[in-house]
Amino acid sequence: MASSKKSGKKADGDKQSSTLQECDYVYACEWGECEEEIGDMALFVKHIAQHVNEYVSSLQSSNQPGQTGQATCFSCNWRECESQILGNYCDFNRHVYFHAFHVRLKCLGKALLTSSCGTEACSLDGQSRNWIPELPENLICGWKDCELIYDNPVFFYSHVNQHCDEYKEGNNVVGGARCKWTGCDTLVRSKYKLKEHIRSHSQEKVVACPTCGGLFANRTKFIDHQKRQADTASK
Ligand SMILES: [Zn+2]
Ligand SMILES: [Zn+2]
Ligand SMILES: [Zn+2]
Ligand SMILES: [Zn+2]
Ligand SMILES: [Zn+2]
Repeated sequence: MASSKKSGKKADGDKQSSTLQECDYVYACEWGECEEEIGDMALFVKHIAQHVNEYVSSLQSSNQPGQTGQATCFSCNWRECESQILGNYCDFNRHVYFHAFHVRLKCLGKALLTSSCGTEACSLDGQSRNWIPELPENLICGWKDCELIYDNPVFFYSHVNQHCDEYKEGNNVVGGARCKWTGCDTLVRSKYKLKEHIRSHSQEKVVACPTCGGLFANRTKFIDHQKRQADTASK
């Protein structure tokens, strides 16, 4: 497994957590029976880490010794997910922390719906609301000379966005803002456009449907989804 990680260095999660932006959302934990609600993403991630650690140590005590290095079957205890993840600890982390990211995007989706009165909401049943998409094998930053590896999508996306901050704010950056992702040479007008562009590399989604959990790359697609799923219901 380790050989697939190129020359990347391991990112320090604690350092990264301080750079997250706070907002007014309340994030609800849905691990097992937990009903905890936390208003800060960094603390929310720490809270989930406790569940993960508890679960992993319960696995280790029931496992027979001498099996390290082999793929383990982890079960995600997030409600309405219950996925089995076959792999190592990092693979499991990537999955579980995607739930944290997903919770945040669903909060944003809810806020968007509340603020845009008149938009009919998705009426799909909530069965898929906590489903997590297939994630890449490694969350590795492809920015020139960076190659940091993350287990946690929350920190990964926020890290990738920081590379865009080497360009100045404003609608027009003198000489343009160039993407330095490996194998890419795209030149855009502004830092904002670069942040939009870089998502094609990081696969970051920006909003999720609070009803069905669907993930969207931009707000227009999200609003289209709300209209379409409301239409289907009324027919
Ligand atoms: Zn919890
Ligand atoms: Zn899960
Ligand atoms: Zn990077
Ligand atoms: Zn690019
Ligand atoms: Zn939906």
